[in-house]
Amino acid sequence: MRICVFCGSNTGKGEAYMKAGYEFGALIAGKGFGVVYGGARDGLMGAVANGALEAGGEVIGVLPRQLFDLEQAHETLTDLRIVDSMHERKQIMHDLSSSFVSLPGGIGTMEEMFEVWTWTQLGVHRKPLALYNVNGFYDALETFLDHMVEEGFVKAVHRGMTLVGNDPVKLLDELTTFEPPLVKKWLKPEER
Ligand code: AMP
Repeated sequence: MRICVFCGSNTGKGEAYMKAGYEFGALIAGKGFGVVYGGARDGLMGAVANGALEAGGEVIGVLPRQLFDLEQAHETLTDLRIVDSMHERKQIMHDLSSSFVSLPGGIGTMEEMFEVWTWTQLGVHRKPLALYNVNGFYDALETFLDHMVEEGFVKAVHRGMTLVGNDPVKLLDELTTFEPPLVKKWLKPEER
């Protein structure tokens, strides 16, 4: 089982995010699961990878060729896959993983997280998703998501497809057992 981690290429303010990222990586590895992530050396992404590697875990990075210089590649990963585009990166990260968790991050993290969420909503996959709410980082997003439901733009069943928590041990347990609700599938069976 591999957990795909989306998170910031920056460290965030203070030490709480980097500490939580490192410990979360170590926790995943301690459970015997692999980590799939964006392949960068720095920021919260690097902290998660280092936590998992130093706990003896498997870490696979997936980095687009054009980001190779911009986002320094982590040099001691179990496997670093260099791909041709952002789209390919997301597809490969998805294919290699059995579930997804987003730690705090910026626009890139939001983009990755929301895209896999839309895939769940559309029935493209049925892999669990979670937000690890370190330091209350996702409180404001939770409020906004509730607002989307209240205003009739998001169905409650789709809102409930993503787990949210600030206890990493509990969240990881839930992530490995949770099954997102079945939704009406619009893809042909051979395309699913
Ligand atoms: P950020 O949260 O903005 O620090 O970015 C976190 C990671 O998301 C970085 O490795 C970005 O390269 C990556 N990212 C940003 N946009 C995309 C995208 N459209 N597809 C795949 N990865 C992305």
